[in-house]
Amino acid sequence: MIRRGERVGVAVSGGKDSLSLLDVLHRLSGGHGSHLVAISVDEGVSGYRDEALEHVKTAAAQLGVEHLTVSYKDLFGFSLDEALDWKEEVRDVTSCSFCGVFRRRAIDDAAEKAGVSVVATAHNLDDFIQTFVMNLLHGDVARLGWLDPSHADDSFAIRRVKPFMEIYEEEVALYAFQSGLPFQSVSCPYMHEGLRTEVRDYLNRMEADHPGMKNVLLRSSLDVISRYAAADSKASLRCSDCGRPSSSRLCNVCRMKATIKQHVNYTG
Ligand code: SF4
Repeated sequence: MIRRGERVGVAVSGGKDSLSLLDVLHRLSGGHGSHLVAISVDEGVSGYRDEALEHVKTAAAQLGVEHLTVSYKDLFGFSLDEALDWKEEVRDVTSCSFCGVFRRRAIDDAAEKAGVSVVATAHNLDDFIQTFVMNLLHGDVARLGWLDPSHADDSFAIRRVKPFMEIYEEEVALYAFQSGLPFQSVSCPYMHEGLRTEVRDYLNRMEADHPGMKNVLLRSSLDVISRYAAADSKASLRCSDCGRPSSSRLCNVCRMKATIKQHVNYTG
């Protein structure tokens, strides 16, 4: 996933997974913090992200890693709290689906700014299969190709990799505890709105009753995803607003920004 000597952006939210990833990549780099840039996104959720950002700041300083923070407010003109203020009126969109689209763009922007050639995110095995199942449950099969871990997007020069995608969430948690990493204790107030919590509980029950089931689902999902990714790569358009790659005339970020603009005092 990562080539020798590459400068790597590490998306670090301040949770156990991302701080473990930063720690592991720092060890694998032989302690050369200058090869890494920690990238944090401040979504603008009151009382939630501040503690996490402090943990990232401390960890990055201890490891000698540059730390770059970007905020939704600066990039898009609104905080997540402001963007979601009106959301009660819209039933078919979850807070996390909004947030995820903007976070991906924020990380891309920061990665370009930091001049890295690859961005590593801390998605673990559990995250990966949950997202796969959620896409199926939402009828979002067209997006399955986006999950392909080896999918190279020709229109975006920076590769995205998921070094923890074959590792169980509880193993990453064990690593974080054993390494004594201080990580965020507060949960995002929006996290239980979507389907993810139910899917996570279901998959945990399946794994408890049938050990190894999650691993089997990972293999099956990778097989399905690779077929969609092959089809996807042939359909790359450009967003008419921002010029970024898109599967339709307007990319998701610009489409959502347009929706938000109708509802909040938008300054972006
Ligand atoms: Fe964003 Fe959802 Fe994560 Fe909260 S839980 S930070 S809304 S993706």
